[in-house]
Amino acid sequence: MKVKQNLRVRIDADAMERIWHWTDLAAGEFSCLATVTDDLVVGGVQLFGQICTSASTEIDQDALAKFLVTHQQPERVRAWIHSHGRLGVFWSQQDEACIEGLANDLCLISIVVNKKREWKARIDVWQPFRLTFDDLPLEIRLPDQNLRGECEALFNAHVVEMAPMLMPDWRAGTRRNSPQQQGQSHQGGWPDFDDDLADWR
Ligand SMILES: [Zn+2]
Repeated sequence: MKVKQNLRVRIDADAMERIWHWTDLAAGEFSCLATVTDDLVVGGVQLFGQICTSASTEIDQDALAKFLVTHQQPERVRAWIHSHGRLGVFWSQQDEACIEGLANDLCLISIVVNKKREWKARIDVWQPFRLTFDDLPLEIRLPDQNLRGECEALFNAHVVEMAPMLMPDWRAGTRRNSPQQQGQSHQGGWPDFDDDLADWR
């Protein structure tokens, strides 16, 4: 794995949804593990046996070993995600110890979340040097629904692209000084909208 300048963590949308559901369901903390692809996409999150309190989640080494033995791609299990429940997102001493316990020869992605939908993501590597890349961007990867062809057909059928100089002057910034707002008739251009409706632009 090459360390890129614009390092980021991506996570499959369904994995993120599961994490938020478990975060909502847990009274306090919980942990789960996930697989990581070569281009750092987290997916396939799974729970394993654990005893949780409001302030800690203990990884049962026997349950973890059983989880890895029965996993289809144990070598891909390189992500540890846990929730802090109602507390903030940070790396506690226990978290640091847990990350060290999950050390491997590639990398470990760790994500901590809470019930307020806050999160923090980091990558740790141990070879050839011990490095931690903290506060990384976390991007949700939406599923590819194979909609390119359909969207392209609809786009070509409905959208006419004109050169910018031929576009009517409809931008919100200039519309506020339009003749219509000054009590004059509105010649050409796009029909005016209510201010509420104009906010989305
Ligand atoms: Zn923690």
